[in-house]
Amino acid sequence: MSFIEELKKRRTFGIISHPDAGKTTLTEKLLLFGGAIQVAGAVKSNKIKKAATSDFMEIERQRGISVATSVMAFDYRGLKINILDTPGHEDFAEDTYRTLTAVDSVIVVIDVAKGVEPQTEKLVRVCRMRNTPIIVFINKLDREGKDAFDLLDEVESKLGLSVTPLSWPIGMGSRFKGVYSIYEKNLILFQPHGKQEEEEIISITDLNDERLDKEVGKDMAKTLRDETEVIKDLYPEFDQEYYLAGELSPVFFGSAVNNFGVRELLDCFVEIAPEPLPRETEERPVNPTEDQFSGFIFKIHANMDPNHRDRIAFLRICSGKFERNTNYLHVRQNKKMKFANPTSFMAAKKTVIDEAFPGDVIGLYDSGNFKIGDALTGGEVLHFKGIPSFSPEQFRFVNNADPLKTKQLAKGLDQLMDEGVAQMFTRDTDGRRIIGTVGALQFEVIQYRLEHEYGAKVTYEPASLRKACWISSPDDVALKEFTARRKKDLAHDTEGKLVFMAESEWSLKMVQENHPKVQFHFTSEF
Ligand code: GDP
Repeated sequence: MSFIEELKKRRTFGIISHPDAGKTTLTEKLLLFGGAIQVAGAVKSNKIKKAATSDFMEIERQRGISVATSVMAFDYRGLKINILDTPGHEDFAEDTYRTLTAVDSVIVVIDVAKGVEPQTEKLVRVCRMRNTPIIVFINKLDREGKDAFDLLDEVESKLGLSVTPLSWPIGMGSRFKGVYSIYEKNLILFQPHGKQEEEEIISITDLNDERLDKEVGKDMAKTLRDETEVIKDLYPEFDQEYYLAGELSPVFFGSAVNNFGVRELLDCFVEIAPEPLPRETEERPVNPTEDQFSGFIFKIHANMDPNHRDRIAFLRICSGKFERNTNYLHVRQNKKMKFANPTSFMAAKKTVIDEAFPGDVIGLYDSGNFKIGDALTGGEVLHFKGIPSFSPEQFRFVNNADPLKTKQLAKGLDQLMDEGVAQMFTRDTDGRRIIGTVGALQFEVIQYRLEHEYGAKVTYEPASLRKACWISSPDDVALKEFTARRKKDLAHDTEGKLVFMAESEWSLKMVQENHPKVQFHFTSEF
């Protein structure tokens, strides 16, 4: 198979949802179709329960799962599909944001009873910043939930998406009869806990067909006929071009746990979802079809085995062919590196690969060379865009609790920050280290891992800070005046960038008003 054929086969996407909407269940059903797994229950739910936050074994167990489920690849209808896992727990939202830089499209799962939840809103906002094509799957139709039209309204207003339904539910909860596929013009009848092969599909091209009345009953048939008329008036016809531009989202209804409506979703996905898309770099756009290899690191995972200090860096291939044992340029360190054991992930199984193509995600064993956002290329200097750090909202001072382990502590903190577990700032006035995170759980993870992986001990001290933002100004004089006046609130991040640490939303607002020529950024990339 030629390089172009290989690349055109790839579909790389992520599933996002608020915890409990059914992301894990849907992932598992998709893998079953691809034959990547044989039995249900093989995909472990990668979520950390709030109740278990102080249970370190639980954190460790979850970390193990999250390596195994970081990438799951399967073949379906001649395509190679890569699902990138996104943690649902909000304390790991930043991990999810970064993973979203490595996908070409997403499927959003929404619980029919709960509708659009906060985490869904946040994640979709990130997708919309990049015009990522989005398919919506409304799940749990076997339960009572919101009216389908109301839900679509909610999706449009809360997520800011334009939608068009490609399937439509017939009843719900105990009266759930199935869905009518607007896309394939089929009636698909629901049998709870039925296997997909048993799913009854009746081809009905004309909704006035009497078989509809026979199958779902006269009342429901009438409702469906009426509603499809309304759909025609209310929603635009599906147009792939708009979908690919991130301007129109098709919506499907189903029940993941019953494996219902999942095949329709997958069949449509493989027809419409984008091939590997170009990526922006500071230097130029990078096209997947280019001969020269390039890729970036979007996730780093420490090895679970304490005897192996190395880590796994996850690389998304953006252009050209990646080959084992070939020298590539590590752009930030300006050095050549080659990889003897690059791995791919078919479901939970790891295999060493000889080559990989744009759209693929591979794991590279790393002894501490990589940071999130690093580029690897065939020789060209490229810096991939869109992998920012987000302004953290929880802060603590870190104290060294074992002076004999100062070196270990410095190394551990460096490596954990490279992995993107949290961000570290050094205060200008006294050189104190402050760790900033998006969620409280990270503080426990850091403390535990420093001790178990680096032999270093830390204690935390509360820091009354609310927000850290990156500072810049086109006006040197204004910037100098600002840094002189606000010296006590300034720090530097690990990249040496200037950061303003605000004690409250209010004080941040005041400072912004007093220094109109200074810009305050809420992501590290500006
Ligand atoms: P995640 O947190 O988004 O990964 O959600 P899970 O896939 O773990 O699902 C959360 C819960 O919802 C589990 O108990 C599932 O069995 C259940 N669930 C998933 N899909 C459905 C569905 O279609 N109907 C019903 N009734 N429950 C479902």
